[in-house]
Amino acid sequence: MSVSFDNTEIAFRYRSDKALKKAQYMFAFMGSPAATQMGIGLTKLAFKISLPISGIIKKTVFQLFCGGETLAEAAQTAAMLHKYNIGVALDYGVEGKSTEADFDAAVPEFIKAIDYAAAQPNIPFIPIKITGFARFDLLEKIHNKKELDETEQQEWNNVWTRIESICKRAHEKSIRILVDAEESWIQDPIDDLTNAMMARFNQEKAIVFNTFQMYLHTSLPYLKKSLQIAEEQGFILGAKIVRGAYMEKERARANAMGYLSPVQPNKKSTDNDYDVAVKYCIDNIDRIHTFIGTHNEESCYKAIKLMQEKGIAPGDDRVYFSQLYGMSDNISFNLSDAGYNCCKYLPYGPVKDVMPYLMRRAQENTSVAGQTGRELSLINKEVLRRRGQ
Ligand SMILES: Cc1cc2nc3c(=O)[nH]c(=O)nc-3n(C[C@H](O)[C@H](O)[C@H](O)COP(=O)(O)OP(=O)(O)OC[C@H]3O[C@@H](n4cnc5c(N)ncnc54)[C@H](O)[C@@H]3O)c2cc1C
Repeated sequence: MSVSFDNTEIAFRYRSDKALKKAQYMFAFMGSPAATQMGIGLTKLAFKISLPISGIIKKTVFQLFCGGETLAEAAQTAAMLHKYNIGVALDYGVEGKSTEADFDAAVPEFIKAIDYAAAQPNIPFIPIKITGFARFDLLEKIHNKKELDETEQQEWNNVWTRIESICKRAHEKSIRILVDAEESWIQDPIDDLTNAMMARFNQEKAIVFNTFQMYLHTSLPYLKKSLQIAEEQGFILGAKIVRGAYMEKERARANAMGYLSPVQPNKKSTDNDYDVAVKYCIDNIDRIHTFIGTHNEESCYKAIKLMQEKGIAPGDDRVYFSQLYGMSDNISFNLSDAGYNCCKYLPYGPVKDVMPYLMRRAQENTSVAGQTGRELSLINKEVLRRRGQ
């Protein structure tokens, strides 16, 4: 079956006319970098001086990109997506925590989400960020191979215990854990921890997935090395393939500290590595289960073509496509309509705690050339279609 990402009727069928108009307004607003910067600045200030703005945010940008403030609210959004055969990666999106008490408190939230997901027909994935369970500075110290003192070693042991208990429950309930990739200068301990979890829980199928950011020129070789590790240790590699979300930060740090940027020289080289990585995973489908996280239509078309050439059924459980909730519905809904496994990353959590996520989305929608324009033009097209024009 052929797939077209231009079909807006399928793409937006879950949005009422009112919701579509609201999305049109929001994307038009985000299309202006000056307005977005001003919005972000004012929001930060308002939170700092405790102005009651959560309500306004909840009705606007939060509603566009998040499932709700609680698991119960997110559950309603997930159930709505299920009507259209869209799966969910249920993302407890709280960020910016830094104490041992916060990290401990996050574990039961994830266990609750896993238990909930296991009782639902369309929530196969739970994403986690290791910085939600570990101090950033601690990860950086380990990444830099510095010796830990006794307290730090205990902290690191605690991180292992937290992640282990989450992966263990996920394994028992057959829910898959996506370990997000973050800044390159904390990534080594994240990889080591994730590899250890994969070795333990990915015996029959991929329960734990590592993330490969293809804007890093080291990622393609590391993907190949990861398969080698998986083969040596006898587990199935779970590979989530993304381009990478921290490009400006990576480049600015490299520049400020005087080392060579780990990011590819240009978009074309990132795109190339992305598609090569997806091909590598699909070529090794018996040993790698793949999660294609992208809003890039070309990369999705290429992956579909490859699956068709190789006779891989669209619904094969070893390949998933995914986009963030509120973005690229034209890809998600058209893929699932054609029988491909597709799920939305659906963040939830208190408005204040998901603000870093929302700010990244707002910035991404101004800085990623073409994305906002594409979203807006598709929404405009659908508004006109519904008016019969
Ligand atoms: C389901 C899902 C899960 C995700 N999980 C993670 C995660 O765990 N970690 C993470 O870091 N990101 C994650 N992301 C974000 C992702 O990395 C990208 O930032 C985002 O999806 C945009 O890339 P794209 O492939 O969708 O689209 P595109 O618009 O085709 O690509 C934009 C991306 O290309 C790269 N790029 C742009 N310009 C250049 C340039 N000049 N030189 C080199 N590279 C360039 C950047 O990575 C940029 O974000 C996730 C995205 C999705 C959809």
